[in-house]
Amino acid sequence: MKVLITGGAGFIGSHLADELLKNKHRVIALDNLSTGRIENVVHLKKNPNFELVVGTVLNEHLVDKFAERVDVIFHLAAAVGVELIVKKPLESLTTNIKGSETVLEMAYRYNKKILISSTSEIYGKNVNGPLKETDDRILGSPLKVRWSYSTAKAVDEMLAYVYWKEKKVPSLIVRLFNTVGPRQTGYYGMVVPRFIEQALTNKRITVYGTGKQTRCFIHVEDVVKTLIKLAEEPKAVGEVFNIGSQEEVSIEQLAKEIIRITKSKSKIEYIPYEKAYEEGFEDMQRRVPDTTKINKLIGFKPTYSLAEIIKDIVMYIKKNMKLPA
Ligand code: UDP
Repeated sequence: MKVLITGGAGFIGSHLADELLKNKHRVIALDNLSTGRIENVVHLKKNPNFELVVGTVLNEHLVDKFAERVDVIFHLAAAVGVELIVKKPLESLTTNIKGSETVLEMAYRYNKKILISSTSEIYGKNVNGPLKETDDRILGSPLKVRWSYSTAKAVDEMLAYVYWKEKKVPSLIVRLFNTVGPRQTGYYGMVVPRFIEQALTNKRITVYGTGKQTRCFIHVEDVVKTLIKLAEEPKAVGEVFNIGSQEEVSIEQLAKEIIRITKSKSKIEYIPYEKAYEEGFEDMQRRVPDTTKINKLIGFKPTYSLAEIIKDIVMYIKKNMKLPA
C-alpha cells in the first residue's frame, strides 16, 4: 500500500509510520509540526519508502496532491490535548473541523479509503461503562471549551459517515481511549508522560481534582497495529470502533504506581480543576471502552498491561531527557 498519514510526525502518526514501513508499505507523512515533531520521524529520514511533507491539512492543494498519489489515508492530524484546546480553542476548532472536511473531500475526489481518528471525548460526561459505540453523548455547554472539542470531533465523525452514506467514500472511524507510549509529550497536558517526568525528577506529582476519576491507558503499539488491521478489513468501512484497554485505573492510583515503579521520592499534590485548567472546567469521571465490536471483527486485544506501559515510557524518557543524575 501507499499511505498518506496526516499528522504523520505526531505521537501516534509516527508510530503508525514505523509499523507500516516495517510491513513494507510506503508512507507519506503530512504534518505542520505544530504538535508533531521532527524528532519523532528523524530515524526514518534515510528510508526510501518514507517522505515527510511539512504542511497543514487546511491547505487544499497540498492535500489534493498527496491524496491522489496514495491508496489509503489515515487522518490523524488534529489539535489534541486538553490543555492545548483550552489555551487555543479557535485554532483547535478550525483544524479539527475544516481539516477533516478537506481531507474527506479529497478522499471523495480520488475515491480513496480513509480512516478518521476520533476520541473517547465523544462520550462526554457519560460515566456509564463500559461505553459502547452506540451509547449517548452527554455534554455540557458548547461555550465550555472541552465540549467544543468533543463537538468538533463529533462533526468529523458525522462528515466521515455521510461521505460514506451519500458519496460512497470508503471511510471508517476509530475512537481512541487514552493512547500513551514513547514520544508522547506531557507538554499539552497528557497525564502519563507528565507524571513520569515529575517522578523521575522527584518533583511533586500534580493530580487534578480528587484523583478518583478513572481512565484506561493503551500502548500506542497496540493502537497502530489495530489501525492497520482495520484499514485492511473491508467490513470495517462505514463503521465506528472503540479502541482502548479495559484496565481501569484512578489518576491517584496511577500516580502511586508511577512513584512505585520509578522508586521516586515525589509526593502527590492535589490541584483543583479551576486552577489546573480554567474556572468551571468539567472533567470526565470515568471512561472505559466496550471493545466487543472490534474484538468480534478483527480479534482485538491489547498486549501491554499498565505496569508494562509505564516501564516502557520510563525507559524512553530516561533515554531522551536530560535528567539530573
Ligand atoms: N491530569 C492530572 N494531572 C495532570 C494532567 C492530567 O491529574 O498533570 C488528569 C486529568 O484531569 C484527567 C486525567 O488526568 O482526569 C487524564 O488526563 P489527560 O489529559 O491525559 O487525558 P483525558 O482527560 O483526555 O482523558
